[in-house]
Amino acid sequence: MSQLVDSFGRKITYLRVSITDRCNYRCIYCQPDEQFKFISHEEILRYEEIVEIIEEAVNLGVTKVRITGGEPLARKGVIDFIKKLGEIKKLEDISLTTNGFFLSEYAEKLKDAGLNRVNISLDSLQEEKYKKITRGGSLEKVLKGIDSALKAGLLPIKINTVLIRGINDDEVEDFVRLALKSPLNIRFIEFMPSGEELKDNYSDKFISVLEIKESLAEKYSFGPIAINSGNGPAKYYQIKGGQGTVGFITALSQHFCETCNRIRLTSEGKLRSCLFSNKEVDIKQAIRNTKTDDKIIRSKIIRDNIREAINIKPEGHKLNKKFSNRDFFKMSKIGG
Ligand code: SAM
Repeated sequence: MSQLVDSFGRKITYLRVSITDRCNYRCIYCQPDEQFKFISHEEILRYEEIVEIIEEAVNLGVTKVRITGGEPLARKGVIDFIKKLGEIKKLEDISLTTNGFFLSEYAEKLKDAGLNRVNISLDSLQEEKYKKITRGGSLEKVLKGIDSALKAGLLPIKINTVLIRGINDDEVEDFVRLALKSPLNIRFIEFMPSGEELKDNYSDKFISVLEIKESLAEKYSFGPIAINSGNGPAKYYQIKGGQGTVGFITALSQHFCETCNRIRLTSEGKLRSCLFSNKEVDIKQAIRNTKTDDKIIRSKIIRDNIREAINIKPEGHKLNKKFSNRDFFKMSKIGG
Protein backbone atom coordinates (compact mmCIF):
# COMPACT_ATOMS: atom_id res chain seq x y z
CA MET A 1 0.00 0.00 0.00
CA SER A 2 1.59 3.29 -1.07
CA GLN A 3 2.16 5.88 1.61
CA LEU A 4 2.69 8.39 -1.14
CA VAL A 5 -0.49 10.28 -1.88
CA ASP A 6 -0.40 13.80 -3.31
CA SER A 7 -2.61 16.77 -2.42
CA PHE A 8 -5.16 15.69 -5.04
CA GLY A 9 -5.49 12.12 -3.77
CA ARG A 10 -3.35 10.51 -6.46
CA LYS A 11 -1.28 7.54 -5.31
CA ILE A 12 2.32 7.75 -6.45
CA THR A 13 3.73 4.35 -7.40
CA TYR A 14 5.93 5.08 -10.40
CA LEU A 15 9.39 6.67 -10.48
CA ARG A 16 11.16 7.62 -13.70
CA VAL A 17 14.88 8.01 -13.31
CA SER A 18 17.16 9.75 -15.77
CA ILE A 19 20.68 8.41 -15.25
CA THR A 20 22.39 10.71 -17.74
CA ASP A 21 21.69 13.80 -19.82
CA ARG A 22 24.13 12.58 -22.48
CA CYS A 23 23.02 10.79 -25.61
CA ASN A 24 24.75 9.31 -28.65
CA TYR A 25 21.87 10.72 -30.72
CA ARG A 26 20.79 14.31 -31.12
CA CYS A 27 17.15 13.91 -32.16
CA ILE A 28 15.76 17.09 -33.67
CA TYR A 29 12.69 17.08 -31.42
CA CYS A 30 14.56 16.42 -28.20
CA GLN A 31 18.11 17.73 -28.06
CA PRO A 32 18.91 21.36 -27.41
CA ASP A 33 21.17 23.48 -29.61
CA GLU A 34 24.94 23.06 -30.05
CA GLN A 35 25.82 25.44 -27.22
CA PHE A 36 24.03 23.36 -24.65
CA LYS A 37 26.35 22.38 -21.81
CA PHE A 38 26.07 18.87 -20.45
CA ILE A 39 25.99 18.41 -16.71
CA SER A 40 29.50 17.84 -15.32
CA HIS A 41 30.40 14.41 -13.95
CA GLU A 42 30.44 15.63 -10.33
CA GLU A 43 26.93 17.00 -10.71
CA ILE A 44 25.45 13.79 -12.11
CA LEU A 45 23.96 11.54 -9.46
CA ARG A 46 26.22 8.60 -8.68
CA TYR A 47 24.73 5.12 -9.06
CA GLU A 48 24.95 4.52 -5.28
CA GLU A 49 22.95 7.69 -4.70
CA ILE A 50 20.31 6.69 -7.22
CA VAL A 51 19.98 3.22 -5.69
CA GLU A 52 19.64 4.73 -2.20
CA ILE A 53 16.84 7.04 -3.39
CA ILE A 54 15.04 4.24 -5.24
CA GLU A 55 15.23 1.96 -2.17
CA GLU A 56 13.57 4.61 -0.03
CA ALA A 57 10.96 5.36 -2.69
CA VAL A 58 10.13 1.64 -2.84
CA ASN A 59 9.86 1.48 0.94
CA LEU A 60 7.30 4.26 0.70
CA GLY A 61 5.23 2.47 -1.93
CA VAL A 62 6.79 2.96 -5.37
CA THR A 63 6.49 -0.35 -7.25
CA LYS A 64 7.62 0.60 -10.76
CA VAL A 65 10.84 2.24 -11.89
CA ARG A 66 11.74 3.29 -15.42
CA ILE A 67 15.33 4.11 -16.32
CA THR A 68 15.77 6.76 -18.98
CA GLY A 69 18.05 9.62 -20.04
CA GLY A 70 19.70 10.99 -22.25
CA GLU A 71 20.59 7.53 -23.46
CA PRO A 72 20.75 5.26 -20.41
CA LEU A 73 22.72 2.56 -22.24
CA ALA A 74 25.43 5.12 -23.00
CA ARG A 75 26.32 5.43 -19.30
CA LYS A 76 29.08 3.08 -18.15
CA GLY A 77 28.15 0.56 -15.48
CA VAL A 78 24.46 0.44 -16.38
CA ILE A 79 24.27 -3.37 -16.18
CA ASP A 80 25.62 -3.49 -12.62
CA PHE A 81 23.27 -0.67 -11.72
CA ILE A 82 20.26 -2.63 -13.02
CA LYS A 83 21.51 -5.65 -11.04
CA LYS A 84 21.37 -3.57 -7.87
CA LEU A 85 17.79 -2.54 -8.67
CA GLY A 86 16.96 -6.19 -9.32
CA GLU A 87 17.93 -6.90 -5.70
CA ILE A 88 15.33 -4.49 -4.29
CA LYS A 89 12.68 -6.92 -3.04
CA LYS A 90 9.49 -4.87 -3.24
CA LEU A 91 10.30 -3.36 -6.63
CA GLU A 92 7.88 -5.12 -8.97
CA ASP A 93 8.77 -3.69 -12.36
CA ILE A 94 12.01 -2.34 -13.82
CA SER A 95 11.85 -0.96 -17.34
CA LEU A 96 14.10 1.14 -19.53
CA THR A 97 13.60 3.60 -22.39
CA THR A 98 16.32 3.55 -25.03
CA ASN A 99 17.01 4.64 -28.58
CA GLY A 100 17.97 0.99 -29.19
CA PHE A 101 21.42 1.68 -30.62
CA PHE A 102 23.31 -0.43 -28.05
CA LEU A 103 20.54 -2.94 -27.49
CA SER A 104 21.84 -5.76 -29.66
CA GLU A 105 24.90 -6.06 -27.42
CA TYR A 106 23.05 -5.34 -24.14
CA ALA A 107 19.62 -7.00 -24.36
CA GLU A 108 20.52 -10.34 -22.81
CA LYS A 109 22.76 -8.85 -20.16
CA LEU A 110 19.97 -6.47 -19.20
CA LYS A 111 17.49 -9.32 -18.90
CA ASP A 112 19.92 -11.34 -16.78
CA ALA A 113 20.50 -8.31 -14.57
CA GLY A 114 16.79 -8.11 -13.77
CA LEU A 115 15.35 -5.69 -16.32
CA ASN A 116 11.75 -6.63 -17.16
CA ARG A 117 11.06 -4.73 -20.36
CA VAL A 118 12.10 -1.96 -22.74
CA ASN A 119 10.57 0.92 -24.62
CA ILE A 120 12.45 1.71 -27.81
CA SER A 121 12.23 5.01 -29.66
CA LEU A 122 11.75 4.71 -33.40
CA ASP A 123 10.45 7.64 -35.41
CA SER A 124 11.03 6.50 -38.96
CA LEU A 125 11.32 3.23 -40.84
CA GLN A 126 13.25 4.90 -43.66
CA GLU A 127 17.04 4.84 -43.27
CA GLU A 128 17.71 8.33 -44.62
CA LYS A 129 14.91 9.99 -42.71
CA TYR A 130 15.84 8.12 -39.55
CA LYS A 131 19.38 9.47 -39.91
CA LYS A 132 18.04 13.00 -40.32
CA ILE A 133 15.69 12.88 -37.32
CA THR A 134 18.30 11.36 -35.03
CA ARG A 135 21.15 13.34 -36.59
CA GLY A 136 23.27 10.36 -37.53
CA GLY A 137 21.57 7.31 -35.99
CA SER A 138 21.51 3.86 -37.57
CA LEU A 139 18.11 2.33 -38.33
CA GLU A 140 19.77 -1.00 -39.07
CA LYS A 141 21.34 -1.17 -35.60
CA VAL A 142 18.06 -0.30 -33.90
CA LEU A 143 16.11 -2.92 -35.83
CA LYS A 144 18.75 -5.47 -34.74
CA GLY A 145 18.37 -4.16 -31.19
CA ILE A 146 14.60 -4.70 -31.32
CA ASP A 147 15.20 -8.24 -32.49
CA SER A 148 17.63 -8.90 -29.65
CA ALA A 149 15.17 -7.48 -27.12
CA LEU A 150 12.45 -9.82 -28.46
CA LYS A 151 14.80 -12.79 -28.23
CA ALA A 152 15.92 -11.84 -24.71
CA GLY A 153 12.26 -11.64 -23.62
CA LEU A 154 12.28 -7.97 -22.55
CA LEU A 155 8.52 -7.96 -23.01
CA PRO A 156 6.20 -6.32 -23.75
CA ILE A 157 8.27 -4.18 -26.10
CA LYS A 158 6.82 -0.75 -26.70
CA ILE A 159 7.96 1.34 -29.63
CA ASN A 160 7.77 5.10 -29.05
CA THR A 161 7.01 7.02 -32.21
CA VAL A 162 6.74 10.80 -31.89
CA LEU A 163 4.62 12.12 -34.74
CA ILE A 164 5.61 15.42 -36.29
CA ARG A 165 3.67 16.92 -39.16
CA GLY A 166 5.69 17.15 -42.36
CA ILE A 167 8.38 14.90 -40.99
CA ASN A 168 7.05 11.40 -40.32
CA ASP A 169 3.25 11.62 -40.47
CA ASP A 170 3.40 9.94 -43.88
CA GLU A 171 4.69 6.76 -42.19
CA VAL A 172 1.80 6.08 -39.82
CA GLU A 173 0.52 3.15 -41.87
CA ASP A 174 4.01 1.67 -42.21
CA PHE A 175 4.16 1.55 -38.42
CA VAL A 176 0.72 -0.04 -38.27
CA ARG A 177 1.93 -2.70 -40.71
CA LEU A 178 4.91 -3.30 -38.42
CA ALA A 179 2.49 -3.94 -35.54
CA LEU A 180 0.53 -6.29 -37.78
CA LYS A 181 3.47 -8.47 -38.62
CA SER A 182 5.45 -8.42 -35.35
CA PRO A 183 4.65 -8.62 -31.62
CA LEU A 184 5.44 -4.97 -31.00
CA ASN A 185 3.32 -2.33 -29.32
CA ILE A 186 3.64 0.81 -31.40
CA ARG A 187 2.79 3.98 -29.48
CA PHE A 188 2.07 7.13 -31.41
CA ILE A 189 3.10 10.02 -29.20
CA GLU A 190 2.15 13.65 -29.53
CA PHE A 191 5.08 15.92 -30.17
CA MET A 192 5.73 18.01 -27.07
CA PRO A 193 7.48 21.36 -27.23
CA SER A 194 11.13 20.42 -26.87
CA GLY A 195 14.07 20.52 -29.30
CA GLU A 196 15.74 23.67 -30.56
CA GLU A 197 15.41 22.97 -34.27
CA LEU A 198 11.61 22.69 -34.22
CA LYS A 199 10.95 25.71 -32.04
CA ASP A 200 9.28 27.89 -34.64
CA ASN A 201 5.65 27.38 -35.62
CA TYR A 202 5.22 24.57 -33.13
CA SER A 203 1.48 24.33 -33.65
CA ASP A 204 1.98 23.62 -37.37
CA LYS A 205 4.13 20.62 -36.51
CA PHE A 206 1.85 19.27 -33.80
CA ILE A 207 -0.51 16.42 -34.73
CA SER A 208 -3.26 15.19 -32.45
CA VAL A 209 -2.86 11.42 -32.26
CA LEU A 210 -6.60 11.16 -31.62
CA GLU A 211 -7.10 12.37 -35.21
CA ILE A 212 -4.63 9.73 -36.36
CA LYS A 213 -6.54 7.11 -34.42
CA GLU A 214 -9.83 8.15 -35.99
CA SER A 215 -8.47 7.97 -39.50
CA LEU A 216 -6.85 4.57 -38.85
CA ALA A 217 -10.11 3.24 -37.40
CA GLU A 218 -11.78 3.85 -40.78
CA LYS A 219 -9.38 1.42 -42.38
CA TYR A 220 -8.47 -1.11 -39.69
CA SER A 221 -10.56 -3.01 -37.23
CA PHE A 222 -9.42 -2.06 -33.71
CA GLY A 223 -10.27 -3.75 -30.43
CA PRO A 224 -9.16 -2.23 -27.13
CA ILE A 225 -6.70 -4.38 -25.22
CA ALA A 226 -4.99 -4.11 -21.86
CA ILE A 227 -1.28 -4.80 -21.91
CA ASN A 228 1.14 -4.74 -19.01
CA SER A 229 1.20 -1.01 -18.52
CA GLY A 230 -0.54 -0.31 -15.22
CA ASN A 231 -2.48 2.88 -15.56
CA GLY A 232 0.00 4.38 -18.01
CA PRO A 233 -1.01 7.09 -20.44
CA ALA A 234 -1.35 4.98 -23.59
CA LYS A 235 -4.51 3.30 -24.73
CA TYR A 236 -3.75 0.19 -26.77
CA TYR A 237 -5.65 -1.44 -29.60
CA GLN A 238 -5.22 -4.83 -31.15
CA ILE A 239 -5.60 -4.69 -34.91
CA LYS A 240 -7.61 -7.57 -36.28
CA GLY A 241 -5.27 -10.25 -37.56
CA GLY A 242 -2.16 -8.60 -36.16
CA GLN A 243 0.48 -9.78 -33.69
CA GLY A 244 1.15 -6.44 -32.07
CA THR A 245 -0.88 -3.45 -30.95
CA VAL A 246 -1.04 0.26 -31.58
CA GLY A 247 -1.34 2.82 -28.80
CA PHE A 248 -1.94 6.55 -28.60
CA ILE A 249 -0.41 8.96 -26.10
CA THR A 250 -2.25 12.24 -26.01
CA ALA A 251 -0.06 14.26 -23.66
CA LEU A 252 -1.40 17.55 -25.01
CA SER A 253 -4.71 17.02 -26.76
CA GLN A 254 -6.17 15.02 -23.87
CA HIS A 255 -4.30 15.28 -20.59
CA PHE A 256 -4.04 12.25 -18.37
CA CYS A 257 -3.01 14.30 -15.34
CA GLU A 258 -5.90 13.12 -13.15
CA THR A 259 -4.49 9.57 -13.15
CA CYS A 260 -0.82 10.56 -13.10
CA ASN A 261 1.00 8.29 -10.63
CA ARG A 262 4.58 9.33 -11.35
CA ILE A 263 7.45 11.42 -10.19
CA ARG A 264 10.83 11.87 -11.82
CA LEU A 265 14.40 11.95 -10.67
CA THR A 266 16.59 14.00 -13.02
CA SER A 267 20.17 13.12 -13.83
CA GLU A 268 21.41 16.06 -11.77
CA GLY A 269 19.53 14.85 -8.73
CA LYS A 270 16.32 16.84 -8.63
CA LEU A 271 12.94 15.33 -7.89
CA ARG A 272 10.34 16.64 -10.29
CA SER A 273 6.71 15.75 -9.88
CA CYS A 274 5.47 16.95 -13.28
CA LEU A 275 7.34 16.98 -16.60
CA PHE A 276 5.93 20.42 -17.34
CA SER A 277 6.51 22.06 -13.97
CA ASN A 278 9.79 23.71 -13.08
CA LYS A 279 9.29 23.11 -9.38
CA GLU A 280 11.92 20.66 -8.18
CA VAL A 281 13.29 19.32 -4.92
CA ASP A 282 17.09 19.12 -4.73
CA ILE A 283 17.49 15.66 -3.24
CA LYS A 284 21.12 15.36 -4.35
CA GLN A 285 22.13 18.39 -2.30
CA ALA A 286 20.17 17.05 0.65
CA ILE A 287 22.00 13.72 0.45
CA ARG A 288 25.42 15.24 -0.13
CA ASN A 289 24.98 17.66 2.76
CA THR A 290 24.27 14.71 5.02
CA LYS A 291 27.73 13.82 6.17
CA THR A 292 26.71 10.78 8.16
CA ASP A 293 26.50 7.10 7.19
CA ASP A 294 23.76 6.59 9.78
CA LYS A 295 21.10 4.69 7.85
CA ILE A 296 18.20 6.02 9.88
CA ILE A 297 19.16 9.66 9.43
CA ARG A 298 19.85 9.25 5.71
CA SER A 299 16.60 7.37 5.23
CA LYS A 300 14.61 10.13 6.95
CA ILE A 301 16.18 12.86 4.82
CA ILE A 302 15.53 11.02 1.58
CA ARG A 303 11.94 10.20 2.53
CA ASP A 304 11.26 13.80 3.56
CA ASN A 305 12.52 14.99 0.18
CA ILE A 306 10.37 12.47 -1.69
CA ARG A 307 7.30 13.54 0.30
CA GLU A 308 8.05 17.20 -0.34
CA ALA A 309 8.24 16.57 -4.11
CA ILE A 310 4.89 14.81 -3.99
CA ASN A 311 3.33 17.61 -1.93
CA ILE A 312 4.15 20.12 -4.68
CA LYS A 313 2.87 17.94 -7.50
CA PRO A 314 0.52 20.19 -9.48
CA GLU A 315 -3.03 19.12 -10.23
CA GLY A 316 -2.22 19.13 -13.92
CA HIS A 317 -0.58 21.01 -16.72
CA LYS A 318 -2.53 23.45 -18.81
CA LEU A 319 -0.50 23.13 -21.93
CA ASN A 320 -1.80 22.67 -25.40
CA LYS A 321 -0.52 22.96 -28.93
CA LYS A 322 -0.48 26.75 -28.77
CA PHE A 323 2.88 26.78 -27.02
CA SER A 324 5.07 29.80 -27.32
CA ASN A 325 8.85 29.59 -27.77
CA ARG A 326 9.55 30.38 -24.14
CA ASP A 327 7.62 27.28 -23.08
CA PHE A 328 10.08 24.93 -24.81
CA PHE A 329 11.76 22.68 -22.32
CA LYS A 330 14.85 20.50 -22.21
CA MET A 331 13.62 16.92 -22.39
CA SER A 332 17.13 15.45 -22.52
CA LYS A 333 17.97 16.92 -19.11
CA ILE A 334 14.77 15.86 -17.36
CA GLY A 335 14.42 12.46 -18.99
CA GLY A 336 11.45 11.57 -21.18
N1 SAM B 1 17.46 8.08 -25.29
C1 SAM B 1 16.30 7.33 -24.93
C2 SAM B 1 15.37 7.23 -26.11
O1 SAM B 1 15.67 7.71 -27.19
O2 SAM B 1 14.31 6.62 -25.95
C3 SAM B 1 15.59 7.83 -23.69
C4 SAM B 1 15.40 9.28 -23.52
S1 SAM B 1 14.21 10.04 -24.56
C5 SAM B 1 14.22 11.68 -23.94
C6 SAM B 1 12.72 9.34 -23.93
C7 SAM B 1 11.51 9.47 -24.79
O3 SAM B 1 11.14 10.83 -24.84
C8 SAM B 1 11.70 9.00 -26.22
O4 SAM B 1 10.77 8.00 -26.53
C9 SAM B 1 11.43 10.23 -27.02
O5 SAM B 1 10.77 9.92 -28.21
C10 SAM B 1 10.57 11.06 -26.09
N2 SAM B 1 10.64 12.47 -26.45
C11 SAM B 1 11.72 13.27 -26.47
N3 SAM B 1 11.40 14.51 -26.87
C12 SAM B 1 10.07 14.50 -27.12
C13 SAM B 1 9.13 15.47 -27.55
N4 SAM B 1 9.51 16.69 -27.85
N5 SAM B 1 7.84 15.11 -27.67
C14 SAM B 1 7.45 13.85 -27.38
N6 SAM B 1 8.27 12.89 -26.96
C15 SAM B 1 9.57 13.19 -26.83
